[in-house]
Amino acid sequence: MKAGVILVGTELLNGGTVDTNSIYIGEELNRYGIEMEFKMAVRDVEEEILKALAYAKKNVDLVILSGGLGPTIDDITKQCIAKYCGVPLIVDPADVKILEAKFQDIHLPMIPSNIKQIEKPEGAVSFPNGAGMAPGIYIDGIAAFPGIPRELYDLLPKFLAWYEKEKNLGADRIYIRDILTYGLGESLLDNKVKGLFTEEGIYYEFLVKSHGTIIRLQSYQHHKKNVEKIVK
Ligand code: AMP
Ligand code: MG
Repeated sequence: MKAGVILVGTELLNGGTVDTNSIYIGEELNRYGIEMEFKMAVRDVEEEILKALAYAKKNVDLVILSGGLGPTIDDITKQCIAKYCGVPLIVDPADVKILEAKFQDIHLPMIPSNIKQIEKPEGAVSFPNGAGMAPGIYIDGIAAFPGIPRELYDLLPKFLAWYEKEKNLGADRIYIRDILTYGLGESLLDNKVKGLFTEEGIYYEFLVKSHGTIIRLQSYQHHKKNVEKIVK
């Protein structure tokens, strides 16, 4: 199973914000054995989000978006998903009740633009946000979550637990084994060990760090024994 991630936010492309969400998404996907084939960051521009969605839908089973689910004019992610899927945005009266209660809890007035946070493409499943206002949504292979990291951290595990059941994913998680080496440059190191790295179904990577070179072997849990044999 392959996923593609679309990070939505002009601030991610002009130096305003460092994208940390995709690191977290990658780690969570590993736990479910879902490989992230690519990630891309796009501006808050409808045409550009739609282009990214079209590319992602063509190439992976699951598209995950983060960002642009808020109440302000630059938050257009759900509107783009609805347009892409050819359905209207709707508001579920049950979600209005939940939102009203949240605003009562924080003693702030709810204004009409807050309703935008609970809009969803018709037919979408929603996931309650335990750390903020906008629920996560899923429709037709596309999931979207707020960009605020603590809200994403609340929602993504809920979504993935549901998605695993929905798609009968099984429990074959991604298995990563790192070997920290030092003393040899990467070309000499590669030359010394590459004869061992012939087994199919394992990704071999050389990651150069200031403290040495990490050799990373990535595969699935069911391949763990083979990975360990090579590491030995
Ligand atoms: P948004 O959901 O677009 O309203 O995003 C709200 C805030 O979340 C932004 O102002 C950023 O501070 C933060 N944010 C958005 N995308 C990311 C990301 N990819 N990584 C880390 N923080 C992000
Ligand atoms: Mg944004």
